[in-house]
Amino acid sequence: MPELPEVETIVRGLRPRLVGRRIIAATLSHDDLLDGVSKRTLLRQLPGRVITAVDRRAKHALIHTDTRILAVQPGMTGALLYFDRELTAAESKYAVLQCRLSDHGLLVYRDVRRIGTLRWLDASGWQAYQARLGPEPLDPDFTAELFADRLGRSASPIKKVLMNQRMVVGVGNIYATEALFAAGIDPSKPARLVPHKQLLNLHGQVRRILQAAIASEGTTFRDYVTGAGQPGSFQLEIVVYSREGQPCVVCGTRLVSTHAIDARSTVFCWRCQT
Ligand SMILES: [Zn+2]
Repeated sequence: MPELPEVETIVRGLRPRLVGRRIIAATLSHDDLLDGVSKRTLLRQLPGRVITAVDRRAKHALIHTDTRILAVQPGMTGALLYFDRELTAAESKYAVLQCRLSDHGLLVYRDVRRIGTLRWLDASGWQAYQARLGPEPLDPDFTAELFADRLGRSASPIKKVLMNQRMVVGVGNIYATEALFAAGIDPSKPARLVPHKQLLNLHGQVRRILQAAIASEGTTFRDYVTGAGQPGSFQLEIVVYSREGQPCVVCGTRLVSTHAIDARSTVFCWRCQT
């Protein structure tokens, strides 16, 4: 699933192409991605809307209009794309939502496996939804002390806590794995047993890695593409995620993988991460 850097990249790419445009017409191929809105209502309400802003909260791309907010949470195979031409037959095959814009461009949510989510919320609906999400890791007000306080109370493994969207948003398997390696923390250690100093360091590593990944326009192992359809390049800077069996870049020990923490693959160096 696209994590914070990927959604941030999508949003930054789409913003200059979308803001100020009016949605002229909209089509939806399937309604199984809709949450809290019917196909009929969405397709009746989208045309005529003017896009006023495009931003991100957690792993959601938010397309603000003069009435409501279209909140797109891309799934594993999801992409939010702008086209200044017609779609090819292959491109339109998995195009779930298509919005024709006043500049003749096309805003498309494409999703091969259709596991993303589309929401159409008014301001109070969005407030209620986003109140359940944790703080943004790159928010300067979310200091290292606040981060350490918040995460350090939990008895769950630190990796699970770091990926819990109620604790802190935007960090999934890739960036949690990288940040815990950089901070030298065993991903299975209960968060409340991680020394305070290491939690402060983890905050800095999370921020550094997310910022570097944004600068590289995200990580593409398989499906993720930017709003212009290009892959990201942070996979070239990944040092642990998906590298089980390969030598640790710091000590040369063979990296190991476990599924015991959260049923997903967690790669780590048992010598560097204690
Ligand atoms: Zn090592």
